[in-house]
Amino acid sequence: MNTKDILEKKTLEKEDLLYLVKLRGRQDIDAIKNKAQEVLLSKCGGKVYYRGLVEFSNICSSDCFYCGIRKSNTAVNRFMLDSEEVVEAAKWCAEQGYGSIVLQSGERSDPPFINYVEEVVRQIKKTTVSDKLSAGLGITLCVGEQSRETYRRFYKAGAHRYLLRIESSNPQLFASIHPPRQTLQSRIRCLEILKEEGFQVGTGVMIGLPGQNLEHLVDDILFFRDIDVDMIGMGPYIVHSGTDMKVYREAFEENLEENFIRSLLMIALTRLTLRDVNIAATTALQTIKENGREQGLDFGANVIMPQLTPVNVRKDYMLYEDKPCIDESKEQCRSCLERRIKSVGREVALDQWGDSPHYARKKKRD
Ligand code: SAH
Repeated sequence: MNTKDILEKKTLEKEDLLYLVKLRGRQDIDAIKNKAQEVLLSKCGGKVYYRGLVEFSNICSSDCFYCGIRKSNTAVNRFMLDSEEVVEAAKWCAEQGYGSIVLQSGERSDPPFINYVEEVVRQIKKTTVSDKLSAGLGITLCVGEQSRETYRRFYKAGAHRYLLRIESSNPQLFASIHPPRQTLQSRIRCLEILKEEGFQVGTGVMIGLPGQNLEHLVDDILFFRDIDVDMIGMGPYIVHSGTDMKVYREAFEENLEENFIRSLLMIALTRLTLRDVNIAATTALQTIKENGREQGLDFGANVIMPQLTPVNVRKDYMLYEDKPCIDESKEQCRSCLERRIKSVGREVALDQWGDSPHYARKKKRD
C-alpha cells in the first residue's frame, strides 16, 4: 500500500501509523497534513479555540528530570501569585472573549495549596458570568497528580477540564525521566479517576526524549486512543541547563529539525486516529521554529493558549529554556496570536468554551 491508500483507510492500525510516521518526503508530508486538515474540518470545524494560560506558581514537590522548575533546581526563584491576581487575569480573559482559562502550576498536594486552587476556581466562576458566557469561563486545571477527593473538590468548585500529560506511555522511557517514586501506573490511575469524576481529560507526551524512537511515539497515539481522552497537548522536549538532562544538549541541537517534524506528524497522526478531540498547538513548538504554532494548526491542531501569566513572574516559570513570549504583555500576545492564526487562514472562536466534540459524543453514548 502507498501513502494515499493508507490515508484513505477508515481506521489506522499500528503498522499504518508506523509507516506514516517514518515518511520524510515533501509530497508524503503534505498528503498527511492535508488529510489531517480534512478530518479536522469535518469532525471539529476549522475554528481555533483559546485557553488563556495562567502559570500561577512554580513551587513544586515533584522532581521530573527534564523540568526546569523541578524541586531540586535550587537556582529557581519560587513564587505563588495572590489569588486576586489570578482572578483579575481571569476577568481580563473573559472580557477579551477567550472562553476558557488554564490554571497551571508546579505540583503540590498540601491542604493550603488545594484550598487555594479550589477557592480561585470558585471565584473565577462567580466573577466571569456574563450575557456572553452564561456559565462563566471554562476552567481547565493542570496541577498534577492529586487524590480522588481533591479532584472531586476541584470539579465541584467549577473546573471541568483537566490536563495531565503521560509524558511517555512507555514504562522504561517514563522511568528514565522520573524519580522512582513517580510512576507511570500512578499517572494512568489519575487519568482514570479524572474521567470518573466527570472531567474532560487531556493528556500528551514530549517528543524527542533521549531514547525515544518512532515506535514509542506511535504507541503513545494508541495509548491516547485506548484511554479515550478528549484533549491532547504535546510538543518537543527542550533541554534545560538547570537539570541533569543538560548532558543531552548537543544531541538535542543536532536533532532539532527531526524533532520538529516528528512533533507536527504526531499532531497530524493523532488527529487521524482520534479524530474529534481537541489538540493544542503548544508554545514549545514555537521554541524550535518561529512559526511553529501556526504549523501545528496546519497539521490539525485547533487550540492555542495565549499567555496571561503576569510578566514579572514569567521568567521564573521556565519549564524549558528559550521559552518564547517571555516579556510580551497579554495585550501584545493577543494581537500577535490573532495575526498568526489569520496567516494560516483560520479564525478564532470567541465567547465559548470550545469543548471537544469527542466529549459530547462520549456523553451521548453513555
Ligand atoms: N505540574 C503540572 C504541570 C507541569 S508543566 C503537571 O504535573 O501536570 C506542563 C508540561 O510541561 C509537563 O507535563 C511536560 O510535558 C512539559 N515540560 C516540562 N519540562 C519540559 C521541557 N524541558 N521541555 C518540554 N516540555 C516540558
